[in-house]
Amino acid sequence: MTGLKSQQLFERGRKVLIEGVSSASRGPSTFGGAPRYMSHGQGARLYDVDGNSYIDWMMAFGALPLGHAHPAVVETVAREVAGGTHFATALQVEVEVAEMLVDLLPHVEKVRFANTGTEAAMAAIRLARGHTGRRKIIKFEGHYHGWWDAVLLNTNPLPPTMFGHPNDPIRIPDSSGIPEEAWRDTIVVRWNDVEALERAMAIHGREAACLVTEGIMSNMGVIPPKPGYLLRMQDLCREYGALFYLDETVTGFRVAAGGCAELYGLDPDIVTYGKALGGGLPMAMIGGRNEVMSGLEWGKVLHYGTHNAGRLALSVTKVMLQTLLANDRAGFSVLRDRGLKMAEAFRTVARASNRHGVICQGVNSMFQIFFTDREVISDFREFCTHVDRLKFRDFTLRLMDKGIYMNPSATLHSLSSLAHSDADIAATAKAMAEVLDEMP
Ligand code: PMP
Repeated sequence: MTGLKSQQLFERGRKVLIEGVSSASRGPSTFGGAPRYMSHGQGARLYDVDGNSYIDWMMAFGALPLGHAHPAVVETVAREVAGGTHFATALQVEVEVAEMLVDLLPHVEKVRFANTGTEAAMAAIRLARGHTGRRKIIKFEGHYHGWWDAVLLNTNPLPPTMFGHPNDPIRIPDSSGIPEEAWRDTIVVRWNDVEALERAMAIHGREAACLVTEGIMSNMGVIPPKPGYLLRMQDLCREYGALFYLDETVTGFRVAAGGCAELYGLDPDIVTYGKALGGGLPMAMIGGRNEVMSGLEWGKVLHYGTHNAGRLALSVTKVMLQTLLANDRAGFSVLRDRGLKMAEAFRTVARASNRHGVICQGVNSMFQIFFTDREVISDFREFCTHVDRLKFRDFTLRLMDKGIYMNPSATLHSLSSLAHSDADIAATAKAMAEVLDEMP
């Protein structure tokens, strides 16, 4: 049960905030009622205003690879804030962090900082259009690249009657207020399906500025790419002269130091990062080879932003990267091991309970639990037809009552951090076992 103080804040909040919150995914549509209002976080734990504590597996949608209030982050913010919050000028730390990123990512020679994944994607796609002189962009069913007009198509689960033919998905904007002109040039393709992609590229490839993909489908739970699929996608982009834009907002500094590009041996033309990059502060970037990125120079493709490259956020990004990369990138191994261990602990619990059709899919530090009759969920359509999203919400809300915080939306995922301990994993697995037994 959501505590009394959270209930009261929700009542107050909904009078002055839309649905009591500031993002559609935090309110009653996700929680089925009042969300829990959080007061503070420490390590792997979140605390709500009613004094309940939770082992947090949401980690701010992936923004907290180090966990809550990591000492290096707290110390950095305290030190830097004393020297001013934001100047909107050139900064030394801006150069330093860009150097670190360019050192780390072989496909990145230049970066441009932004604040959110949405903004970075907007700039990346404008850049791709400017660079190629082409209009069309190709995106995939179930892939999310922010809440803006040109890409907010087919990002929500749909009933099968709305899928359309696998070679020609029905294009569906996920929001009112998006004029058709905004997505007229956006082509939607089924993901993890080489033939559908080859066909779409044969038709649209020569007119496409870029193809944009998540490296791991991360907004329909966690759905990894089939072996060789992303490399084939990259080859097709090269063949048709469309830029290969890998959206690493979720996967960057999450599944490997070099994100999905490193994990799957890719050489994308454009990448965007967000979430984990800022270590909990708003930070995003667009990166690529000089030849493409130089398109963002003054007078070519415009990109502005009062809050770009904020000194607090950059200082935290720097310390976050230093922490993860120290001792030969040991932090990434810890992140991965924690995630793999939690996913495996869940599978053990599910096998022992054997009361529900339930599986767990994950890649390194990210995983998702699917209530399903399938052994694997490999694309958007399978997710829509074979994953019981309400049952997952019930599972997570019961877990919350036992002090485990997972996002109730089956379309999202859980994430490990450096702060999750073996004891946290054991406590989570124990609560999961109880919940699986209690659930109808
Ligand atoms: N791209 C992907 C792949 C994402 O998952 C998200 C956020 N869930 C975004 C872009 C947008 O990022 P932000 O919420 O920071 O705008």
